[in-house]
Amino acid sequence: MTAVDVPAWVRAFAALVDAQAEELTDLDAAIGDADHGTNMQRGLTAAVAALDDSASSGSDDSASAADAAKQTAMTLIRTIGGASGPLYGTFFLRFAGAIETGSDIADFARAFRAGLDGVIARGKADPGDKTMVDALTPAADALDKHVAAGDSAVAALDAAVHAAAAGRDATIPLIARKGRASYLGERSAGHQDPGATSAALLVRAAREALR
Ligand code: ADP
Ligand code: MG
Repeated sequence: MTAVDVPAWVRAFAALVDAQAEELTDLDAAIGDADHGTNMQRGLTAAVAALDDSASSGSDDSASAADAAKQTAMTLIRTIGGASGPLYGTFFLRFAGAIETGSDIADFARAFRAGLDGVIARGKADPGDKTMVDALTPAADALDKHVAAGDSAVAALDAAVHAAAAGRDATIPLIARKGRASYLGERSAGHQDPGATSAALLVRAAREALR
């Protein structure tokens, strides 16, 4: 049993993205091509449909958590056209590979870190490049810190939510060095990164899916 219910996490992420799809697309309109909200909505709608199709046993062991994360990864890679599809897909794929039996918040934190490492390996973005990495990295750091301190899963995830939101907000003054927004150079400054915004929703969704 994992600290975070993975299918519930994906469903909560889908619901949050649905509610903020317009905002995500507006942010992408400013420094990209105005499709981040629709990209994420399409991918997560398909991911939820895939979970619905495969939800039979209701079993919640770590093997089924890994299966759900892997299935989500494949669906996101297949259905999201933009840069964010392979990146979120890689996140969930590496997350799936890192979950171990007997999972708790430490296991979740380790798997989350593995997911982030996958995003970095795939997209080659450093913190400060104005990408989703700027929200995911402080969240992973907060999880690790609270796990190391022996704090509760609630405390760790609450801290991760705040850290991701702060990381998202901190993208506003940055000049984009990766992805489509980097074509704008200095003109990308003064705008919040759409991918960091959706990544903060990913962390919020995990908090909502905590058992
Ligand atoms: P596209 O840029 O192909 O239209 P989206 O609009 O769906 O794709 O996603 C854009 C977001 O993807 C950006 O806001 C940024 O956060 C993220 N992104 C783009 N390139 C990278 C990268 N190399 N590494 C990490 N994140 C990236
Ligand atoms: Mg885009």
